[in-house]
Amino acid sequence: MSRVVILGVGGLGCPAALALAESGVPLDLLLIDDDVVERSNLARQILFREQDVGEPKAAAAARRLGAMHSQARDRASFRVDFENIRWSGSTGAALLRGADILLDASDNFATRFVANDACIAARVPLIHGAALGWEGRLLTILPGLTACLRCLFEGPPPGPLPTCAEAGVASPLCGVVGAAMARAALQVLAGKPAAGVLRRWEARTGAERPLTLRRDPSCACGILLPCPSQ
Ligand SMILES: [Zn+2]
Repeated sequence: MSRVVILGVGGLGCPAALALAESGVPLDLLLIDDDVVERSNLARQILFREQDVGEPKAAAAARRLGAMHSQARDRASFRVDFENIRWSGSTGAALLRGADILLDASDNFATRFVANDACIAARVPLIHGAALGWEGRLLTILPGLTACLRCLFEGPPPGPLPTCAEAGVASPLCGVVGAAMARAALQVLAGKPAAGVLRRWEARTGAERPLTLRRDPSCACGILLPCPSQ
């Protein structure tokens, strides 16, 4: 059974987790989030209901996915667990232990780069997903083999950028990107990764613009970064 870690159970993490749970592929899901459900989340964070408001997102999402599978014949091939914890340099390595893949569905650049570095160090494939405003993005990263986030950007931007909570995000776009993240993860687990291409969606026009990326030879991902906990 493959162990899949989903970082961020929000607009992207919810549809990604749902699609993986419904895939029929034997999976052990670990949901990570340190936030609680707010009423404003309900339009796009599709695992939550009004009665979940105020509850930790990871726990509420795990409960809902678990309930969906409690009566299913294939329940032995699906497990879901959660951690109400913030991903950081000190917690990331432990949370990745035994993982076959990480889906980064977090909502801020600092966390994204910490996740990138932890996956590079642990050699765990990373599915990077993002949705802000009308644009969605997806990138599959195979550590040391294909471009990582630091090949594209040296690090998080120096100034604060708006999060999706501040800048807004087209709700249907979250479903598109979240489902694509799940599909990309299953491709990696099946040994057929579609890596090295940044996929971009424009929700107003429906246009999809793939961009082929190359590793930056000077990026530390080529020699694998030291483990953040060391
Ligand atoms: Zn890199």
